[in-house]
Amino acid sequence: MGKGIFEKIVFLLNCLLEVIFQQPYFCIICGRELAYEEVYICDGCQDSFERVTDIVKIDGQDDIFLDECIALYEFKGNVRDIVHDLKYRGKKDLSNVIAYLINKNINLDADLITWVPQSKRTYRNRGYNQSEEIAKYLSYYTNIKCEELLIRVKETQSQVLLNGIDRWYNVWDAFSAERNLKGLKVLIVDDVVTTGATLNYCAKALKQKGAYVVNAICFAKSC
Ligand SMILES: [Zn+2]
Repeated sequence: MGKGIFEKIVFLLNCLLEVIFQQPYFCIICGRELAYEEVYICDGCQDSFERVTDIVKIDGQDDIFLDECIALYEFKGNVRDIVHDLKYRGKKDLSNVIAYLINKNINLDADLITWVPQSKRTYRNRGYNQSEEIAKYLSYYTNIKCEELLIRVKETQSQVLLNGIDRWYNVWDAFSAERNLKGLKVLIVDDVVTTGATLNYCAKALKQKGAYVVNAICFAKSC
């Protein structure tokens, strides 16, 4: 038996062993070993997430351009920890987990997926835009095309420390869309929705370029 064949047999045996003795995967929250059909988060931990059952109501200080805003979970407990790990602790891979959960639970329908652009300062500090990351994974799971459509035309403060009305003034007409979107149904992706002001001005910019429906999908709702 030639050496080449022997190496091929060893390689095949190794593949077979890998299939038989698969590496276990663990829940990213409680650390428990995942069952065969569980992905990233065990069913027990997912049951602890509180689902948002209604469409998120956007109470504006201005006209409302966003048609519908859906959020998957309430922003509390483990859901808040996941978002904080993604945004402030560099765990960029959680964007994949978030997109997986959104796609598993919500039926999305759009011609194009896009994301809320970050301020240049935040992007420099964080190194990535978590909404863009979620949007790209969501595109992978849904097969809906993902495109960068929005730019920030006004540098804004972080919304985190601002109250309701100031959040609206902070992002008032802060966005612009890049290309003709005539007749298209666009879905904006964001990690957390609070007042909806940012999403509303993103929707306004997209509609100014002809988008006929603009919806938003967010991982969590904080109010
Ligand atoms: Zn768990």
